[in-house]
Amino acid sequence: MTRHPLAMAPYSSPSTTDLLIIGAGPAGLMAACWASQYTNMTTRIIDKYPSRTATGHADGIQSRTLEILESFGVVDPIIRKGVQHAEMCFWGYDKHTSGITRHKMDSAQTDKSRYNMVLLNQGIIEQIILDYLGLEQEGRVEVEYGKQAETLELLEEGEDEYPVVVGVKRVGQNGANGHCSDVETIRARYVIGCDGARSWTREQLQVPMRVCSGDTTWGVVDIAPITDFPDIRQSCAIHAGDRGSIMTAPRENRLVRFYIYPKGDGRLSVEGKDRSEVSLDEIVGAMAKVMKPYSLTYKHCDWWSIYKIGQRLVETYRPHDRIFLAGDAAHTHSPKGGQGLNVSMQDTYNLTWKLCSVITGEASPSILDTYELERRPVGEELLKLDTELVKAYEQDTSVTEGVERVRGQYIDFMTGTGVTYGSNDLITGKKADTSVAKNIKIGMRLSSYPVVGQADGISMQLVSRLTSNGAWRLLVFPGDLREPSNQSRLANFANQFNEQPHLPCLHKDLKSNRCCPLLETIVVHPSPRTSVNLLDLPEIFHPFDETWGWDYSRVFADDGSYGEACGHAYARYGIREETGCLVLCRPDQHVAWLGSLGDVEALDQYFGPFVGRK
Ligand SMILES: Cc1cc2nc3c(=O)[nH]c(=O)nc-3n(C[C@H](O)[C@H](O)[C@H](O)COP(=O)(O)OP(=O)(O)OC[C@H]3O[C@@H](n4cnc5c(N)ncnc54)[C@H](O)[C@@H]3O)c2cc1C
Repeated sequence: MTRHPLAMAPYSSPSTTDLLIIGAGPAGLMAACWASQYTNMTTRIIDKYPSRTATGHADGIQSRTLEILESFGVVDPIIRKGVQHAEMCFWGYDKHTSGITRHKMDSAQTDKSRYNMVLLNQGIIEQIILDYLGLEQEGRVEVEYGKQAETLELLEEGEDEYPVVVGVKRVGQNGANGHCSDVETIRARYVIGCDGARSWTREQLQVPMRVCSGDTTWGVVDIAPITDFPDIRQSCAIHAGDRGSIMTAPRENRLVRFYIYPKGDGRLSVEGKDRSEVSLDEIVGAMAKVMKPYSLTYKHCDWWSIYKIGQRLVETYRPHDRIFLAGDAAHTHSPKGGQGLNVSMQDTYNLTWKLCSVITGEASPSILDTYELERRPVGEELLKLDTELVKAYEQDTSVTEGVERVRGQYIDFMTGTGVTYGSNDLITGKKADTSVAKNIKIGMRLSSYPVVGQADGISMQLVSRLTSNGAWRLLVFPGDLREPSNQSRLANFANQFNEQPHLPCLHKDLKSNRCCPLLETIVVHPSPRTSVNLLDLPEIFHPFDETWGWDYSRVFADDGSYGEACGHAYARYGIREETGCLVLCRPDQHVAWLGSLGDVEALDQYFGPFVGRK
């Protein structure tokens, strides 16, 4: 392990923390959401800015990100405040009229998720998460604004339990300059660098980035447009030949986000320029030219910028045993695909439960290798998509087919629902018996269908039961429980489960301070709900607690008599009612393992290599 001989300022005596998150943008806030679930460890999150993003920056929240936010219970305000992305309109240049004309209007709804993309200012999204993190709850993690990481020192292996030493300076309104009280030393067990495209963490460790393309420069504007353009409340890709191209997205409060790549007679080129060299009126003037024959003016501008960015991917997501890079610190790209905030949050959604499991002693550090194995291919794919999309927007053509083709090709990646992790220590891949559930893909997040609560008769999305609290879920599909053979198969399964070396411990092991075992067993049966008595099922599906009685929340019926949407889960997952199956979901809802009800030993072996080892 290298020691970085960085000059240490006169820092106060060090405080320690298990996890230090540097940067409270979308990636850092998502990491904090996970960390707040683990009450038996300490977490700090710092940001050099005095407060959250105020205006501008990213604004597209894709389906998978919404599912993730739902798993923490914070999706509702985002949907309420945001604008649904319902249609995508493609406009091209008509040389006969010298103006733009609509070529196509497509539904932007996805059938892969219960959420469609929502458009909302990044600052409001950050605020909603900050409100959640600030709730009076155990494990609460508060963002420390106005604190800038300034120095990094790495202690030798074994020298200290907290080997990452970060010098932090107070900045902005809250901090004076240079006095001892304004600086602090934080010693951390692990650090996540979520510090954006110009990552300080990355720079300290001198991690190179692979440059996939040079910077291109776009104008980006959030205005309340005054226009007769008919699709102004839709998302549009507009190509006006040599006048340039525009991408629009409707936003909250009658705002519209415009991205413009102006070309043409050279009167406005933003290429290589920064904000001081171009005025807002110049950009809107160029946008008005692209929009012809429609008019475009504005009175209110919320935010505007010149956005210069190239496609880059960091050489390693884990530059040091104890330090990880996530979000824009690991990859940068254009904003065309509406991916920045999403892939960034999904990076830390993937990483942080693993880190917390290791810190709390629930899992061996070996699982941390899966972060790079799983997220680097996503970063690579992101840059491929972005390269194609940027080319399609910038090409000299009057039609929008390029954009349409790229969006069509990458739609599952863009929504985040198609992301599938390859075989590794946490994803069984080829070893699993996938024939038991033909439509469930190992490595992909489990898709969701409505089921009915056995105890309360309330219909709900199955995956809504898989909240992000650090628990693994074993979903047991036993087949029709009116069949005696299915009943005895379920009873055998439960007996075998209780005899394994790891499974019963995981099932009973309540995390300290929380009523949540590491592994929850959940049943989904396709029998009429009224034909099953919950307490007749094996005890692992309704464990008893001296104080709280039985747990009634683990049994669901796939029963079609509760409305048209219900009763299709078995069919949609491709599970045969005669045989049933077991589906193991990781804490991040990705399917880790599949098997039949008789495969209990194999299930136990899955956990063997990594559970409960420091
Ligand atoms: C000016 C700008 C405009 C953008 N416009 C768009 C857009 O139009 N559309 C789009 O999709 N995306 C846009 N993005 C990108 C989008 O905002 C990011 O993809 C997304 O925010 C990534 O999240 P993140 O958490 O990885 O990084 P960021 O959101 O960049 O957060 C990083 C955080 O780290 C903090 N930080 C940095 N260094 C330190 C340090 N030494 N100590 C403590 N804290 C530190 C920063 O203050 C910041 O809050 C824009 C980004 C910027 C900066």
